[in-house]
Parts: sequence; C-alpha cells; structure tokens
Amino acid sequence: MQLEPSFPEIRDTVQKLCSQFPSEYWRSLDAQRQYPGEFVKELTDSGFLSVLIPERYGGSGLGLSAANAILEEIQRSGCNGGACHAQMYTMGTLLRHGNESQKERYLPAIAAGKLRLQAFGVTEPGSGTDTTRIRTKAERQGDKYIINGQKVFISRAEHSDLLILLVRTTPREKVANHTGGMSVLIVDIREAMGNGLSIKPINTMMNHASTELFFDNLEVPVENLIGAEGRGFRYILDGMNAERILIASECVGDARWFINKASEYASGREVFGRPIGQNQGIQFPIARAWAQTEAAALMVDKATALFEAQRPCGTEANTAKMLASEASWFAGDTCVQTFGGYGFATEYDIERKFRETRLYRVAPISTNLVLSHIGTHVLKMPKSF
Ligand SMILES: Cc1cc2nc3c(=O)[nH]c(=O)nc-3n(C[C@H](O)[C@H](O)[C@H](O)COP(=O)(O)OP(=O)(O)OC[C@H]3O[C@@H](n4cnc5c(N)ncnc54)[C@H](O)[C@@H]3O)c2cc1C
Repeated sequence: MQLEPSFPEIRDTVQKLCSQFPSEYWRSLDAQRQYPGEFVKELTDSGFLSVLIPERYGGSGLGLSAANAILEEIQRSGCNGGACHAQMYTMGTLLRHGNESQKERYLPAIAAGKLRLQAFGVTEPGSGTDTTRIRTKAERQGDKYIINGQKVFISRAEHSDLLILLVRTTPREKVANHTGGMSVLIVDIREAMGNGLSIKPINTMMNHASTELFFDNLEVPVENLIGAEGRGFRYILDGMNAERILIASECVGDARWFINKASEYASGREVFGRPIGQNQGIQFPIARAWAQTEAAALMVDKATALFEAQRPCGTEANTAKMLASEASWFAGDTCVQTFGGYGFATEYDIERKFRETRLYRVAPISTNLVLSHIGTHVLKMPKSF
C-alpha cells in the first residue's frame, strides 16, 4: 500500500513544466477552440508521453503508475491532458498486438516525438456504446483494404499522424459471436487525407478537438493490420483498462485542483463579516469532495496494482473511472457553488475546468455501462441488453 504520493520527482518536474502554461494560456485556447500544440510539444520533448513505451523502442519503459502520476499532476496544475493522453494508451494496442516490423516502424518515432499517435477511432453514430454494431467496413482487395464508413467524436484526428481504427472485416450477421469479425488497422492520416478520408471538426462544450471522420474508398495496405483479422474487438478491449485508469487519474487531478481552489477561496472570502468557509453549508461539501476523491484515488491505486501485476482488472479499472469522474464532477460543482457568481466568470478558470471534467462521466464509457458491468459481471444479476 502506497502511503506517500508516488513518483515525487516526476510530479515535481511535471508541475514545473505545467507552470510554463498558466491559466491565461488555457483560457485563450479555450475561447478560440485551439489545440495546445506548444504544451503537447513540451510534454513530448520531455519524454512524458512515452513513459509507457519500452526502452528498446526509445521510451522510458515505466509502468502505468508513472503515467498516472504525470496525468494527475497535469490536471492538478490546471492544465488539460485530454489534448494528448491517448498517445499513452493507444500505443498499447500496437505494443501488445502489433508485429515486430510495425513496432520498429512506429514506436521509436513516436517516442522521439517525430510521429503523433493521438487518434483512436471506435465510436460511430449508428452504434453508440454497442460497439459490435459498427458499420465502418474494410474489404480486402489484393494487398489493400478498402475502407468505407463514418466515425464520430474522434478526438485529436487533426493533430495526429496515425489513427488506430476499428472496422468490420466480416459483417455482424456472418459471425457467430458478434464481437468477432472486427479488425484494427493503423491509418496514416497524412497519406489518407484527401485520398478517401475527410475530417470534420465537432464543436463541443469544451476544447477537445473532436471530429467526425468520413471514409470513402480509403485504401490502407494490408501490412497495417494489427494482429489477426477478426480479433480487433479483443485488442481494443485489452487497451481499455489502461485508458480507464489513466483517465481516472486525470479526474483525481481535476478534483484536487477544484478542492484546493474551493478551500482557499472559502477561507479568504468574507460575507456577513466572516469567511464563507466558516459556514458548514460551504465547508462540508468541500470536505465531502475531499473524502470522495481520496476514496476514488484508492480504487485507482488498486486497479493500477492489478494492471501492473498483469492480473484481470476490468472491474476495478471501470469502477475507478466511474468513482473518479463522479468525484471530480462533485468537486467541480462544489467549487462553482463556493465561488458564487465568480465561479461563472471565465477569468477564474473554474467554469472551464467544470466543463472539461464533465466529459469523463460519458467518455470513454458512460456511468450506466460501468454500473451494468458491476451489476451483471460482479453481482451476477440479469443483463438488460
Ligand atoms: C468529447 C468527446 C470525445 C470523444 N473521443 C472519442 C475518441 O477519441 N474515440 C472514440 O472512439 N470515441 C470517442 N468519444 C465517444 C464516447 O466514447 C461515446 O460518446 C461514449 O462511449 C457514449 O457513446 P454515445 O455517445 O454513442 O452514447 P449512447 O451509446 O447513445 O448512449 C447514450 C446514453 O444512454 C446510456 N445507455 C445506452 N445504453 C444503455 C443501457 N443498455 N442501459 C443503460 N443506459 C444506457 C449511456 O450510458 C449514455 O448515457 C468521445 C466522446 C466525446 C463526447
């Protein structure tokens, strides 16, 4: 059981890096809906985005707990790792299931910051959470796949060189198990743009560089298939535990940022001749937010320990993501309430962080689906779908 914050040196260096990107930087990008390119470059150049890449491919070969510490500190500093967190976990699909030539081709270049792997395409308008109903299809013609279909809410596609794409290679009706017949391809966005791939930005409530992708007879070499054809759903599922745990760490960071802001403000702001934090109506929700965040952080630690021991951790990873996203949401709401009217003023950054952290109760998996997993897999109750 870890009693002190993990990786103090990494946390310290990340905080120093983040201090170069103050609130004004994020506020201005948010207003203009622009990507934090300089911040992502600094993180890449400092090697933080490649901590999970093994040393033999140029990364630092650290475990998930180091990546957790990095993302938590980014969020706790008021910055936004959502701009680049996917590089940490999408790389895992390539690392675990790619062949040696794919790994040699891509991983060292990603680690060196010469290649960006920021985009991950699963969600479709017609399938929603039910991934087995995706319709984007790849038909093999000789040494190429021809891709047709559409993806929605694909983050950072305009700021990535590569896309990890889930497609159907066998129609759903023709496979005995609906999770079969899907495959994962690496798409080189630079070559695909204008040659069968078009990208349309989606304006969302926060600055998240989300897009829609349209595939119209896009040709992808067969050598870009990851692992075996038809086993893609399993490969994507394998990567999801790391994704959930890392995003839970970001939520813990967000919650700590809100709690810090709220408790400082509540101690300083005087109304009716005394600090507002002296009123338990203000003090107790902040204390509750702290308690919820600490509990969520413990579940993140448990999920991480299981992950690093290569033991099953799907339930813990999903539970950690659910609890942490609820803790950050509650901390954010409490922070807005504590600041009163000022919580709504952009210059305090609370409304921005409040919008940003809200995402994680829906993506990458929504709360209901986590509860359904617990209800049916852990508690063995009947499934509703
Ligand atoms: C900003 C943003 C960025 C994203 N980035 C990416 C990305 O990079 N790549 C990618 O592939 N996807 C991405 N997504 C998609 C995201 O993962 C999905 O939005 C999310 O998984 C939910 O899918 P949906 O929006 O289709 O909701 P739906 O599946 O339509 O569900 C809508 C609501 O109904 C609930 N629901 C559905 N079925 C049930 C049920 N059986 N029981 C109870 N409740 C149910 C859900 O919990 C949800 O609350 C992103 C989304 C957003 C908003």
